[in-house]
Amino acid sequence: MQVFKFGGAALKDASNIQNVGQIIQAHQASIRFIVISALGKTTNALEVIINKYVNQDNSYQEAIDNLFQEHIHIIEGLFSVKNQAFILPKILQFQKEIHSFFNLNKEANYTFIYDQIVPYGELLSSSIVSAYLDSIGISNKWIDARDMIATDNNYTEAKVDFTKSEPLIHQFMDASTINITQGFIARNENGYSTTLGREGSDYTAAVISYCINASKMLIWKDVPAVLNADPRLFNDTIAIPELSYREAIEMTFYGAQVIHPKTIKPLQNKNIPLLVKSFIDKNAIGTTIGGSKINEHIEYPPIIVYKTDQVLLSISVKDFSFIAEENLSHIFRIFSTNGLRIHMTHSGAISFSACVENKPERIKSLLKDLAHNYDVKYNESLELLTIRHYTAEKIEALTLNKNILLTHKTRTTIQLLMRSE
Ligand code: ASP
Ligand code: MG
Repeated sequence: MQVFKFGGAALKDASNIQNVGQIIQAHQASIRFIVISALGKTTNALEVIINKYVNQDNSYQEAIDNLFQEHIHIIEGLFSVKNQAFILPKILQFQKEIHSFFNLNKEANYTFIYDQIVPYGELLSSSIVSAYLDSIGISNKWIDARDMIATDNNYTEAKVDFTKSEPLIHQFMDASTINITQGFIARNENGYSTTLGREGSDYTAAVISYCINASKMLIWKDVPAVLNADPRLFNDTIAIPELSYREAIEMTFYGAQVIHPKTIKPLQNKNIPLLVKSFIDKNAIGTTIGGSKINEHIEYPPIIVYKTDQVLLSISVKDFSFIAEENLSHIFRIFSTNGLRIHMTHSGAISFSACVENKPERIKSLLKDLAHNYDVKYNESLELLTIRHYTAEKIEALTLNKNILLTHKTRTTIQLLMRSE
């Protein structure tokens, strides 16, 4: 009983969807659930539409219709004219729902509006894939994930309620076929849509794997395996065939983008192995994460996470008193309520420094909150380099011509905050 997850890149056009169809056909007998995210860059396009709407730019209407036109174009490439008649009414219904939400909406809360609209990306893509599988003779059941995944009301970063979701998943799934559903989207107890955070479809697949006691979860990606560095930034990357849950959680914690950071915990809790495989090179062995077959003593190559556009905020107490536990917990709370994740910290006698990603709107609001009690200075355009299993040569090679502002070193991990000279 396996759970497959396909992301936007695997589904970006008709020929990619046909390729996904072949993968599913080849594994048909062992799949219980398929979790789908939005096609290509649809979520980004929906974000643009929402931003236009909240800024009262009426071109949002045209942008909606363009996005649907792109989906219809893919449908025309996938289905015969006769089969298009089965899927098109559902697509046009979604388009009508979006327009009517915007026409009727009175709510000003951005995150609420966001979560009512962005799920259409996944609803569209999963409907298309489900109908496509029907058309090639693979029977399946399409399920609205919002009927199964229950969350709190924290729009855009909702927390999954496992106790409520587990029976719902069992209620909606058909144990005799392949069930197709959406990643990333869910519902709260007031009946409104919620989302689990950008790139959250991996996490949905892990929640479902946990709840149905899957034997394995597979994420199909455009890389041959988990690599020791981002191939868009480095050309000498090494594939890692096996990773422990621990190593995978550490990598994603430091910002490696290969899987969503929340994915590992539900899998680890039930000892379900995660296989990361290529949808392009199907013969590549991929990477196995966790599970009972994994070797406990894996020798890892240096694993590199490199992030640009970082900001270092140096926060000091106005009256020259020490930065102590009480201030620190206050400061951490302010970061958290502003939705800023701290990547690295340093504390001194009267000042505390924290490195975060440059998210201008959130930083503006954070600075406002801090200004009551603290003086804040900040440094922009920094790079944060993390190396797990570092070697002296790697550090040297990657810090050449860099000005290093902060270093943190443990036995397994080094973090360097730096600026290009
Ligand atoms: N479509 C959503 C996003 O792009 C969720 C996902 O891809 O996992 O963030
Ligand atoms: Mg996506």
